[in-house]
Amino acid sequence: MNTVERTKGNLIASALVCCAVVFQPTANAADANANLEPNRDQPMINPAASAQQATTITLLGTKGGPVEDPSGRRAQSSTLLTVNGVHYLIDAGDGVVSRLIKAGVPPYTVRKVFLTHRHLDHNAGLTAFMSQSWFNGWFFHDKYYMDRSTTKPFVEIYGPPDTSTLFEGSMKFLSVSARDADALGSGTMKLPQEVFSMRTIEKPGVVFNDGTVKVTAIENTHFTHFGPGPIAKNRDFSFAYRFDTPSGSVVFTGDSGPSENITKLAEGADVLVSEVLDFKLLTTESLEGVGITKAPNPEPIRFHMERKHLSPEEVGKMAAKAGVKLVILSHVVPGDVSPKYFVEFVAAVKKYFSGPVILGQDLFQYSMVKQ
Ligand SMILES: [Zn+2]
Ligand SMILES: [Zn+2]
Repeated sequence: MNTVERTKGNLIASALVCCAVVFQPTANAADANANLEPNRDQPMINPAASAQQATTITLLGTKGGPVEDPSGRRAQSSTLLTVNGVHYLIDAGDGVVSRLIKAGVPPYTVRKVFLTHRHLDHNAGLTAFMSQSWFNGWFFHDKYYMDRSTTKPFVEIYGPPDTSTLFEGSMKFLSVSARDADALGSGTMKLPQEVFSMRTIEKPGVVFNDGTVKVTAIENTHFTHFGPGPIAKNRDFSFAYRFDTPSGSVVFTGDSGPSENITKLAEGADVLVSEVLDFKLLTTESLEGVGITKAPNPEPIRFHMERKHLSPEEVGKMAAKAGVKLVILSHVVPGDVSPKYFVEFVAAVKKYFSGPVILGQDLFQYSMVKQ
């Protein structure tokens, strides 16, 4: 039985999703946006995130697309999944470092990064993430960043084939700072190549499994059969990921149009974290839409928006068919509209999906605790 209740003016959603898993809201979106300042004494990350047998989703950046958010409320796309205290970062758009810090999670404590695809609104913060992790891990005496007895990298970045160019570029970016590392660290600072490694995902399937968390990747439709012209031989890839954890399963659509692959991947999942794009709101109520309506040729943009992304109705259809228990909307386009339109996103999803739907905002958290 699912329930949504309002308490003290805050929307509290709780859902009993199965016999073993209870969702616990751990932060409120409105509260998160009202106060984005970090609180060192009381980190925003809920103790449940570090408790045993808990899985917490923290929406770090909920903005979809590369257009700036004039309101500043949403950072570019990134989400943190914390499983029994271990962090997994899904995408690293611009703003990821500041959002991690505001969530009470130092970037250097994140050891696994999964990129869904190589669009800039999902990658623009990776170099900053690596920079901050590398330097501050040493500065704050994290033992992994100071252990010179091993040169084996311990922060792994997974992504589609072209992740290598981004990774190599980021390592080059760090090269001058790294040259000073020995002097700064008096021989205690590890070099970036001793910290970071990259793993290319060449094909769908299980791409990570440490016995606690299993990650499965499938290709979605963001770069596939849609679009004019033949598919390029060395075309780009875009992945959706499913994380199976002891406390529940979470599927991230990444950027995608309607996708049978995602629907299958999400079968029976506890949470679907989905992108969403409302083209009508975008072109009528959003400052973002001005660029489209004034573009010399808006058709390619319209095609991209309507076919390579998901409308709220399409999210609802996929969620219903997959039988997920909860939908969290992130990568929200348009992200700059007044909150009075938020209900429209949710209502459109619920035309087809009867479970709870949450329109995410930056620093919103949701926990699943195994009972
Ligand atoms: Zn995107
Ligand atoms: Zn994209």
